[in-house]
Amino acid sequence: MIDLNDNIYNQTIARSEPKFKVWTWAGVMVTYRCTAACRFCYYGCGPGVKSPVLSVETAISVYTSLKRLAGDAAKIHLSGGEVGVEWEGLSSILKAIQAEGLGGVEEVETNAFWATDAKIVTERVRFLDETGVKTLKISADPFHQEFVDIENVRRLARMAEDILGADRVKVRWKEYMDDPVLTAGMCQHDRDQAHLESISKFKARFTGRAAFELGPLAPQKTVEEIAKHNCASQFLGAKGVHIDPMGNVFNGLCSGIIIGNINQTPLDQLWKQIDWRSMGLIDILFRSGPAGMLEKADKAGFKASRYYSGSCHLCTSIRDFFYKTGNHKSIIGPAQCYAYASGDGDANS
Ligand code: SF4
Repeated sequence: MIDLNDNIYNQTIARSEPKFKVWTWAGVMVTYRCTAACRFCYYGCGPGVKSPVLSVETAISVYTSLKRLAGDAAKIHLSGGEVGVEWEGLSSILKAIQAEGLGGVEEVETNAFWATDAKIVTERVRFLDETGVKTLKISADPFHQEFVDIENVRRLARMAEDILGADRVKVRWKEYMDDPVLTAGMCQHDRDQAHLESISKFKARFTGRAAFELGPLAPQKTVEEIAKHNCASQFLGAKGVHIDPMGNVFNGLCSGIIIGNINQTPLDQLWKQIDWRSMGLIDILFRSGPAGMLEKADKAGFKASRYYSGSCHLCTSIRDFFYKTGNHKSIIGPAQCYAYASGDGDANS
């Protein structure tokens, strides 16, 4: 286990200042590909997005270095995109994690599109059980139900509870499985209302596609109001990361802001060497929040709106501009996080 003072930033701040917390969880994306293209996606996942599949080596590297960081508190969540479109890749990863003696992963998350009959559900859920997956998480909400048949969700939830036990199956959100909002058949106006109602009940973060598709629907704030907040607490206190199939690391839920790549630096080494104050654009976010990026963005030709739904919406809008104009390339990327803009991710970016 690591000590807080093994991190460079923590070594140099005053005792009274908040420390950079140790990462204990990693949300690891098997692919950016998905059968859905939900409006509340933090990335730009969808059927047309190009993506490599997470390699076994990358998955093992994440888990072993997270264990060096957090010991038995280390938790891995495997998700996408949608894991069901790369079931073979997911299977190889789960088998390898088991063979390495790392223990099962905490969670596998799916939208259940593949749960079309009892045979496939039984086979796959038993496989997850045998490879030590602790919890199966199933998506059910007015965003996914634009693309996924609710009967597949119900079939998977019911059968998984029989095989794994109810305490190992999480439906997010159960109330939408029991009383679904079937957005697939709705006109745009009704769909907007259903989505708006959902984000007012369950908090969403407006990064990735969500910034552009949902941000404008949500209650708005002025840029001046947003400028009162910086992102220091999000960078210091996230306690975890997301890692994409190419090894890019995003702090907490800040998708599309690359803080490192585990194919170059193992996760525990990365944690030790991070000092937000020396990371260029990230230093600006840390100290001044997204409004701090406006000066650079304005000079490059960005035209800010007067209103945004909040910090992450403004942040994503500026980053999208930087992405399109090729600025801050080592931090702003990869293409798949900005695929909502181009409609197509580039696996090689
Ligand atoms: S504004 Fe940007 S840096 Fe701050 S929490 Fe949101 S996405 Fe992360």
